[in-house]
Order: sequence, then structure tokens, then C-alpha cells
Amino acid sequence: MRIKILGTGTSIPALNRFSSSYLVTVKDKNILVDIGPSVVRRLLEFDYNVIDIDVVILIHFHVDHSADLSTFLFACNYGIKPRTKPLLLLGGIGIHRFFHGMASIYPWIKPNFYELSIKTLSKNKYLFNDILFEAIKVRHNKESIAIKITYEKSVVFSGDTSFSRNLIKLAHNADLLITECSFPEREVKGHLNLKSLQRILDKAGPKKVILSHLYPDWEHFQGVLHEPCLIGEDGMEIEL
Ligand SMILES: [Zn+2]
Ligand SMILES: [Zn+2]
Repeated sequence: MRIKILGTGTSIPALNRFSSSYLVTVKDKNILVDIGPSVVRRLLEFDYNVIDIDVVILIHFHVDHSADLSTFLFACNYGIKPRTKPLLLLGGIGIHRFFHGMASIYPWIKPNFYELSIKTLSKNKYLFNDILFEAIKVRHNKESIAIKITYEKSVVFSGDTSFSRNLIKLAHNADLLITECSFPEREVKGHLNLKSLQRILDKAGPKKVILSHLYPDWEHFQGVLHEPCLIGEDGMEIEL
């Protein structure tokens, strides 16, 4: 399993951090976790195209996690070569309504030559080509989920959340947790800082932790992070 960090940013536009997004490669399948502004362009920077992606997961529907879905689907229809291979779109409760709402504004995103399957992930499991997707609700928006992708090894994505017992459960002993830690110190409803994240890590015990969804507060961070935590950077690659 290979994880490429496409973005570690937030809703605040930043040159060094694009919206949080991650590309997980398992066997011959490419899974895109979140697709905020500029993610389609960022895929190109890393030598991937929209046609290479097999699964898109929306962890919640805020703009910084979903805006480029329209760009992505439009390019599947009107790229150099129209997409013909199937696409799976996974998301929290309301994913069907979200897609159809977007397609009512942008009718050109409805698939022309390929099959699009849309599935709800809320507190269920979903098996796709022996790759297991597990979701659990977290505390941010009503559709917000954390997800775990397992194939021999496991990676958990927290999504946006405040302190969450569900996240502790899902991330328990995971090989890698990529978690939001929006602020080093500031307390903001619906998000984590180092203190609330530590409460999760103490109980969950993931083997590696990468901090993402980093607001500009982090650019002035002078502290030191201890094992197993690392500050995420756009372009990082992790092999599990
Ligand atoms: Zn966000
Ligand atoms: Zn959000």
C-alpha cells in the first residue's frame, strides 16, 4: 500500500499547502481520498490523470474537500480520451443528494461513456476488489466520516473532526493514521489541536501518525513533535 499526500491544507488558500487530499494505491487500484480545489491539477504534477483513479471518497462535503469533484467528472467526459472504465464514488450520508445537486448545476458531469456507482459509507463496511473500506461517524458535519482502508496493512483518515471516541475505535492499532490537527493550540469547534489529538493517540495507539489539514497557525509552530507524529507536507509519500 502506497500513500501519496497531495495536500495538507484547509479552506484558506495557501501556496505551500493545497486542500487536504490523499492518493492511496493498493494493488492496481488508485483511491483518491477527498478532492478539494486544485486536486485534479495536483494529480497531474504527480503523473496521474483522472482516468487513473478507480475510487473517489468524500469524507464530508465542505468545499475544501469536494469542490474539484466537478472538475474531475467533467474531465472524465471531455478529456483527451473519454473515460470508459467504471468509477466508484463513496461518501457519507447524503452522497447521492450531493452528487445529484452538483449535476443539476453542472449537467456535463453525468457520466457519458462509463459506469458511475455511488455508495453511502456511514458506519458500514464495503469490500472492493479485496480492499476493505470501513467508515465511522466523526464530529464535524452530519455526513462526516473517518475511514479506514485495509489491504494487508491499514491506513485511517480522520477527516475533519473534534475529539471523537469513534476515531479512537477506528484508528486502534492502525499502521498509519493521517489525521487532521487543524491548529497547534487554538481550540476551534469541529477540529483538533495537539492536546485533543494526543487524547486520541493515547488510547488508539496507531503505529505512525501524520498531521494534516493544517491552518496557517502551523507556519509559526516552534514546538517539537514526538514519535510517532510527523507534520504532513504536500508531496510526502509513505509505503506500508
Ligand atoms: Zn476541511
Ligand atoms: Zn470541514
